Amino acid sequence: MQHEFDVISAARNWRFNGIAAPTPTDMVTEVFATDVLTMEQLRLRLSKPVWHSLNATIERSHAIDPSIADTVALAIKTWAMEKGATHYTHWFQPLTGSTAEKHESFVMPTPDGSAISQFTGRELIQGEPDASSFPSGGLRATFEARGYTAWDPTSPAFIMHHHNGATLCIPTAFASWTGEALDLKTPLLRSMDALNTSALRALRLFGDLDVQKVGSTVGAEQEYFLVDEEFAYRRPDLVMTGRTLFGARPPRGQELEDHYFGSIPSRILTFMTEAENQLYALGIPVKTRHNEVAPGQYEIAPMFEQSNVAADHQQLVMQVLRNTARRYGLMCLVHEKPFAGINGSGKHVNWSMSTNTGMNLLDPGDTPHENMLFLFFCSAVIRAVNVHQDLLRISVASASNDHRLGANEAPPAIMSIFLGDDLSGVFDRLVDGSKSSVKKRSGLLGLGTPVLPTLPQHASDRNRTSPFAFTGNKFEFRAVGASQSISFPITVLNTIVAESVDVLTTAIETRMKKKQTFEAALQTVLKETYAANRVIVFNGDGYSDKWQKEAAKRGLLNLKSAVDAFEQLTSEQNSELFSRNSVLTHRELEARQEVMFDQYFKTINIEAETTEWIAQTQLLPGIIRYLSDLNRSAAGLEAVGNLKDEIENKVSTLYQALSVLRAKNAELGGDNVHSKSLHMRDNVLPAMTSVRQAADALEKICSYEHWPLPGYREMLFIK
Ligand code: ADP
Ligand code: MG
Repeated sequence: MQHEFDVISAARNWRFNGIAAPTPTDMVTEVFATDVLTMEQLRLRLSKPVWHSLNATIERSHAIDPSIADTVALAIKTWAMEKGATHYTHWFQPLTGSTAEKHESFVMPTPDGSAISQFTGRELIQGEPDASSFPSGGLRATFEARGYTAWDPTSPAFIMHHHNGATLCIPTAFASWTGEALDLKTPLLRSMDALNTSALRALRLFGDLDVQKVGSTVGAEQEYFLVDEEFAYRRPDLVMTGRTLFGARPPRGQELEDHYFGSIPSRILTFMTEAENQLYALGIPVKTRHNEVAPGQYEIAPMFEQSNVAADHQQLVMQVLRNTARRYGLMCLVHEKPFAGINGSGKHVNWSMSTNTGMNLLDPGDTPHENMLFLFFCSAVIRAVNVHQDLLRISVASASNDHRLGANEAPPAIMSIFLGDDLSGVFDRLVDGSKSSVKKRSGLLGLGTPVLPTLPQHASDRNRTSPFAFTGNKFEFRAVGASQSISFPITVLNTIVAESVDVLTTAIETRMKKKQTFEAALQTVLKETYAANRVIVFNGDGYSDKWQKEAAKRGLLNLKSAVDAFEQLTSEQNSELFSRNSVLTHRELEARQEVMFDQYFKTINIEAETTEWIAQTQLLPGIIRYLSDLNRSAAGLEAVGNLKDEIENKVSTLYQALSVLRAKNAELGGDNVHSKSLHMRDNVLPAMTSVRQAADALEKICSYEHWPLPGYREMLFIK
């Protein structure tokens, strides 16, 4: 019997699919941002007054002047058509975590039977996609089902090419007619405002009058797997769910650690280069690429950007990787855990705050002033992560990330901060007082603590087991899942830090009103803040069992499953936090929670049905064919008799597990998304696991020819 899939052709039959070698014009600098409508492009195409008006909208968040909209739209259309665009779309980020687009042609028929191209200011600024099927968490009843998209001029428009055409994509926010956010972008923009307001307030207290704007910066490292299409499309689980629901562990996994940072195979490198060229054209500053820990796993990372732009770009990175992989006969998997027993994929979100004057507020810096600012903002982050552990956990919670968080090779579900020994030493001394000998060293502007000389410039200590690590001049949030949108995690970070900065600023001001000097007040507040929040700091091995116990002793939250996390989203503290900072109303928060539960149970429901389907229609028939072959050929042999017994045993285990799964799949789990999610977590997932275990045991004794699915051996190692 022959397999439908052919390992040899997978290894050999990929082609460069007509990809030409790069010409000199493909040089990065020439290609960069050619498909992006930059401000420079707009300036060249608009009259001075119009450009100034538009620039005020973008730079200073003024509302757009409707009288310039048509002119701007015409300039945009002309540029887009020169790039080959025939259609435009308002490009937005619905609550599903992906991106959405509905294309409209520029073509407009005229009464005389011909056609012109048209794109009006109204069409630029506002769209009304009939997008009533997007999850809204109850924010849109059917009678008010309309949602509208609104141009976000702070994120530049861009062109997406396909084989025989191109589309102008206009980044937009997506809201209901009542003004409630139906997307991930709107709250992100609001959280940037919140951070700006509170950081400016703090900077003024520090005597800084120059800074006009503070924003958060983000660089997100994307991990992903590549699997040959020859295998991937023969795996209904990969096609339907993005992860393998079956698969026995191969004799060789990642234990040799030969893949990590290993040389990149030429097929993969060619793929990466093409993907990067497309990303450059989209103005996405991708910077690094390398092999990751698991066989078949890779990483791509850009230079950091303003967080809303980084969030848009991150979505494009995933899209371009997926699309480009097809041209190389590969399937790109951005799932958090495509292969059981093999490292999962995360998306490390590097986050910091910077000013319009170019100062990174989380950079220790060279001067005492910068150092003070650094300690202040760093304390604010430490407090934020401790006080809002739940929100950070929620922001990365999903059915797919559950396979990774806490699964012993990824950051645990417990939130903690890695500061490194140097920096935690600085804070420890601040709280515990500097003892004897170090006292003489120069202090931080009268803080009386020997902090200055030891502030780490570069954290060399790379603790990869921490979910939230200080890495020299930024924090790296590592618990974020590979497939998710980074918008909500950034929204949470911006908001909780905005709140902390406010709390600390107020505390300093209160002391100053009581006649304390600024320096004394700052010192006390930093000291009190760290003392109250140091439980969140952990520099040890986050993957160890010891930490689980230690964290419990410290009273840190351990929200083990996504469902546990979702439940906390609408707590009084969270609702208060988001509404006080004008990021999300309670109703918007409830809607998000509803969507999270909804996505969770639907994801697992699809997986469970796929599991049932594959086991029933592929695995059982395959193994039964093997049994009957054994019967026919060598039934008399004793060894064959034993083998048959073993298989029959395992088949009946599989069959029983399958019956349980079938029963659980038939149950609905109640009538609301919360109870359905609980049903999925507590009944369906364990039933799926049993089926998988039984099937994987069979895969190991079934003849290779009779096992219908390509295995981990093929998928992970043949490129
Ligand atoms: P590594 O983590 O491998 O040492 P880097 O520290 O250079 O690499 O950067 C990792 C990611 O962090 C990159 O995407 C980079 O752009 C981003 N990054 C660096 N500085 C900042 C910053 N100030 N704010 C946000 N992201 C940053
Ligand atoms: Mg990193």
